Amino acid sequence: MSDLDNDVPFRMLPELNGISHFFWTAGERGELMFLHCQDCDGLIHPPQPLCPRDHSKNLEPRAVSGRGRVHTFTINHQPWMPGPELPYVVAIVEIEEDPSVRLMTNLVRVEPGDVRIGMPVRAVFEHHADDGGDVWIPLFEPDLEQV
Ligand SMILES: [Zn+2]
Repeated sequence: MSDLDNDVPFRMLPELNGISHFFWTAGERGELMFLHCQDCDGLIHPPQPLCPRDHSKNLEPRAVSGRGRVHTFTINHQPWMPGPELPYVVAIVEIEEDPSVRLMTNLVRVEPGDVRIGMPVRAVFEHHADDGGDVWIPLFEPDLEQV
């Protein structure tokens, strides 16, 4: 995984509340993390206090590989807010370890016209300094090592 440093004001800076703090800061170490339920062995996203499957509170952040596939995507041509250069790709990425875990994200380092459903991707992190604390936004780029 590589690092992206970017001063572009972000798309949507996340709120750093207690339960999601690990998710937005794991990118400092180049890691993509999800809550893992120790009781049913499932991954959980977005972060929440109880496992949606068995209501367990026995949850711990766990690093995953960062690999995934494009579940679906859309190309945004509309300048909704100050942010990335247009057009950019908004995608839902399925995580390799559990394809039921899906992340709303942006794809980078790819021509919007080259994006395909099922395309292998991997996480990269965009660092943003913010008053509430630094965040590392997980974005995805094509993974040329997966076929
Ligand atoms: Zn569970």
